[in-house]
Amino acid sequence: AQHEELEVGLRHALVRDEFVLHYQPRIDLTTGRLIGLEALLRWQHPRFGLLAPARFLPILESSGLIHSAGEWVIQTACRQLAGWQRRFELPDLSITINLSPQQLMHKRLVEVVATALTDSALDPGCIELEIGDGDIVRKRGTELETLRGLRKLGVRLSLDHFGTRDVSFESLDNGFVDSFVLDRNLVADIMENDSHQRIVRAAIAMARGLDIEVTAEGIETVSQLEFLKSCDCDLAQGFLISRPMQPEKVSAVLRSEIAGTSLLARGMP
Ligand code: C2E
Ligand code: MG
Repeated sequence: AQHEELEVGLRHALVRDEFVLHYQPRIDLTTGRLIGLEALLRWQHPRFGLLAPARFLPILESSGLIHSAGEWVIQTACRQLAGWQRRFELPDLSITINLSPQQLMHKRLVEVVATALTDSALDPGCIELEIGDGDIVRKRGTELETLRGLRKLGVRLSLDHFGTRDVSFESLDNGFVDSFVLDRNLVADIMENDSHQRIVRAAIAMARGLDIEVTAEGIETVSQLEFLKSCDCDLAQGFLISRPMQPEKVSAVLRSEIAGTSLLARGMP
């Protein structure tokens, strides 16, 4: 019954302006500077309050509503980034946008991204699209065509949840992906799990060789952060650095960043 109520609610969420984006900072591990933000969808439900994607993303995906919601995410995130870049004179600030597998099955996605780029006048290189599910090589015709179309626009493509999905070496080597995100579960127990330490080290070494950038996600402790630094990991995200925030809060963080106070310096105990 709740599922039904949510599905009915989702049909109206766009026009009722109930979706919001929160943003989680991504930092450069060597300098500690904020280099980008990941856009994370939230639904301000009239009865249940602010809902995380786990509660409604599966319904968006199974109902087909993911296409219109996804379009809203892309437009909103690009507009927001353009605003921040101009206001704080941070032309290199980047944004990460998550894509559902269903979105890749529609070639129109390329048009949607192209329009968002034109409307916001952003450098396409500042946009990183995160693909959640597995192997690019084994994707079907339409999906591959969509991915190629996106590449042609100049946006960056990234594999999310790396280490938990099926990914062929070919998928990494064909120049399709610019980066991958180490899965949160690999990072979570890294200080206690020798095997995860070795996997992470090896994955980062492999990425180096292929000229792929690596982000570690879900960093919650200083020792995890130090370990990843010692592995030469490029970028980092996690509650230790910052939780996802509302746009207004991001503006405040960006203001102090350009004043020279890095998030990490403030977040560190
Ligand atoms: P994701 O892309 O792996 O995003 C990271 C998730 O981990 C976020 O959950 C974030 O709040 C959480 N997180 C970040 N740092 C930490 C940490 O240190 N510890 C822990 N325990 N968690 C951390 P969130 O916002 O609930 O999003 C869940 C997933 O929903 C995302 O996983 C992404 O796959 C999907 N998603 C979010 N926004 C969108 C969207 O706009 N479109 C699509 N298609 N999927 C989205
Ligand atoms: Mg992601």
